[in-house]
Amino acid sequence: MTTFADSSRLASTLEGCRRPVIVVGSGIFGSVLAERLAGGAGRDVVVLERRAHIGGNSYSEIDPETGIEVHRYGSHIFHTKSEKVWNYISRFARFNTYRHKVLTTSGGRVYTMPISLMTINAFFGKCLRPDEVGAFLAASTENFRGGEPANLEEKAISLIGEDLYRAFIRGYTAKQWGRDPKELPAEIITRLPVRHNYNTDYFNDPHQGIPLDGYGGLFEKLLDHDNIRVFLNTDYFDVRRLIPETAEVVWTGMADRLLGYKYGHLEWRSLRFEYERLETEDYQGTAVMNYADEDVPWTRIHEFKHYHPERDAFTSAGTVLCKEFPAAWKPGDEAYYPIGNDRNRALYRRYADEIALRPGWHLGGRLGAYQYWDMDRAVEKALELYETSFQP
Ligand code: FAD
Ligand code: UDP
Repeated sequence: MTTFADSSRLASTLEGCRRPVIVVGSGIFGSVLAERLAGGAGRDVVVLERRAHIGGNSYSEIDPETGIEVHRYGSHIFHTKSEKVWNYISRFARFNTYRHKVLTTSGGRVYTMPISLMTINAFFGKCLRPDEVGAFLAASTENFRGGEPANLEEKAISLIGEDLYRAFIRGYTAKQWGRDPKELPAEIITRLPVRHNYNTDYFNDPHQGIPLDGYGGLFEKLLDHDNIRVFLNTDYFDVRRLIPETAEVVWTGMADRLLGYKYGHLEWRSLRFEYERLETEDYQGTAVMNYADEDVPWTRIHEFKHYHPERDAFTSAGTVLCKEFPAAWKPGDEAYYPIGNDRNRALYRRYADEIALRPGWHLGGRLGAYQYWDMDRAVEKALELYETSFQP
């Protein structure tokens, strides 16, 4: 990989390339595609990245003062069920044995999350066994079982009942999405498992971990090919006049921005991250603490040293925290979560259909696809695009 700190040598680089593919965005989607294009198809690849670093939202780097690996856009844990994705990504990183566990603070007490027998027994002060949970919750779930739940609130109550919903889901969800859970699609809550046993893992996926060399190391390896040139601090819109009309382009930026928002803006939810160094060795005893109560303005606190128990930094003095605050989104803000309602889905289709008519253009990534994807899904979709459109 050759990396350029800005676009000043883009024109001469493009002249020196044979049939380059322009990849806009160096997140996990763009980086996997760049790797396949160069390593699999032998193509010249020019990656344009508007930020000052590669890796998109998955990026992490060492904090120079504490030596702790800090995730720049909130916690990122790689997890997947897919053998194909795991085998592919493991070529570029070794992962540690971290398995994600989350705690949540509700009403001044700490519980395990997602909702499991541990949460249920602690919350109700019971000693229920797995085969007793269904009957115990039946009175508060029955009104919502049977039919198709119409929204997130109905879906959550059908699974866990009113009391647990109010304690752990309603406040967090209202903060996270800035709207009443009755106005949100049911599928958001199905990201979380509900368990009637004491398995307290956050994810069901067999493959989980954090890259031993951090996400910075993973992305360096993905893009480590002589045919790949990366231009940082380079927004496509500032350099598009330099890109040949006939170039093939993989677009992982926002679909509506590409077409000048001509049909209106797709809506997003944004986030604000507040980072803080503290002298204490261990602030919260775990990587992620959620805050379920609506009057606490953040949704979770991340303490990054817990992601790398294998590193010496874990025993060093000091820690780095990040408080995550949900935020309203307006054009120009960082777009984190798509608002998947009927209006936005229909609007997205208009943009995607029009972009599909551009010869040589491909839409991808969570921004380009307007999808709430985890990293493994982005890798899977990038491999799929390579196989269907570029593989020799
Ligand atoms: P991105 O990572 O967003 O990359 C897109 C890149 O394109 C960016 O670098 C951007 O700067 C660049 N770009 C955009 N427009 C332009 C332009 N015009 N010109 C040049 N460059 C441009 N997934 C997990 O699997 N595990 C987790 O634990 C996890 N935690 C998450 C926590 C949070 C708070 C959030 C918001 C997401 C989390 N995810 C997690 C999801 C994960 O972030 C995404 O799956 C991943 O970022 C998708 O990669 P991508 O390449 O599609 O997009
Ligand atoms: N959620 C909740 N309480 C929690 C954690 C999650 O109500 O303690 C809900 C919330 O609506 C959230 C969704 O479950 O948007 C999915 O949670 P996840 O942790 O997967 O969200 P992400 O990490 O993608 O922000």
